Amino acid sequence: MNRDNFSDWLVDASREIGAHSIACIRMDNPILRQRIEENNTQVADWLKLGMHGEMGYLERMLPEKSNPWITFPFAKSVLVLTFSNCWGDPSATHPFPVPVNDALLGYISAYAREVDYHLTGQAMLSKLTEMLGKNIHAEATVDTAAVYERMFATVGGLGVVGDNNLLRMSESGNTRVFIGCLFVDAELPEVIHEAQMPFDCTTCGACVMNCPTGALQLGQPIDARKCISYLTIEKRSSLSRDEGESIGNWLFGCDDCTMVCPPRTVADMRIPVDLEWLLKAPASEIRRTIKGNATAYAGVTQLRKNAVVVLRNMGTPRTQDLLSWVRENTGSELIRRQIDLW
Ligand code: SF4
Ligand code: SF4
Repeated sequence: MNRDNFSDWLVDASREIGAHSIACIRMDNPILRQRIEENNTQVADWLKLGMHGEMGYLERMLPEKSNPWITFPFAKSVLVLTFSNCWGDPSATHPFPVPVNDALLGYISAYAREVDYHLTGQAMLSKLTEMLGKNIHAEATVDTAAVYERMFATVGGLGVVGDNNLLRMSESGNTRVFIGCLFVDAELPEVIHEAQMPFDCTTCGACVMNCPTGALQLGQPIDARKCISYLTIEKRSSLSRDEGESIGNWLFGCDDCTMVCPPRTVADMRIPVDLEWLLKAPASEIRRTIKGNATAYAGVTQLRKNAVVVLRNMGTPRTQDLLSWVRENTGSELIRRQIDLW
């Protein structure tokens, strides 16, 4: 590490580890403290409205999130980086078998292509820790700890939070990006950028218009209970008829508000999955397929629960036959309940 020209060193380091952009914030930065206090109020209000649905962990994590000085007591600085996982790249691969010609299809969000972003980000931050030097103690988080990662990224000037509730990266305005934070015990020189946005969300609104469920509303916080990503990934109990109908053919996540940001023509990068394979293959085969992929967070039962909802939404004799087969053969009470619910 070169402390004398830390800013240039950091740019080179970020290039070497494969990040898009990087900032360094001192934990005693008064703007950081102010932004965390503002965030604490907004998050507490949002939780009070119950918009987090069944994500009780967000309530439980609030005390830790709201006070990083206690959560990471050793930290004197935090490095924040943005990176991608070939999200939206037409060459990005995925581990799911190619569906047969007349397969019944459900879809997985494009961000689940390639290796799970948690693993990619952790590997980048491990490498960065090594580059910082032997005597540095550091803790890395990539959506894996109670940290306001988007807020740290905006304080570091890496972008702004867009109307789709995601980080819009400085300069490109692209929201298909992940964030990692590295809390370190050294007082590093600050490297804070000024976010340059190509245009303001107030002149756009494309994500709000393209959100199929009304989870995004202009000038309102996201209502996670209506968001397809929440319904397919986070909500582990059965889906009501309204919730089920709103997921359409999504098995995991939803690309509708990221595909249009920034507004342009992009390739459809959803992952098509053969529903018959997902429901009939041995669970061990599905588990092997999703190992190391972002969908492993949902797990086999959750993906299959969503698959029966997608079949319900199709409502054809063929889907009804498959549902009857699943009803007979599943070992999951949750899936049986989901089939019988509506
Ligand atoms: S689609 Fe438009 S309004 Fe939505 S986050 Fe992107 S730039 Fe902002
Ligand atoms: S992920 Fe889909 S449902 Fe959720 S806010 Fe975005 S467009 Fe709406």
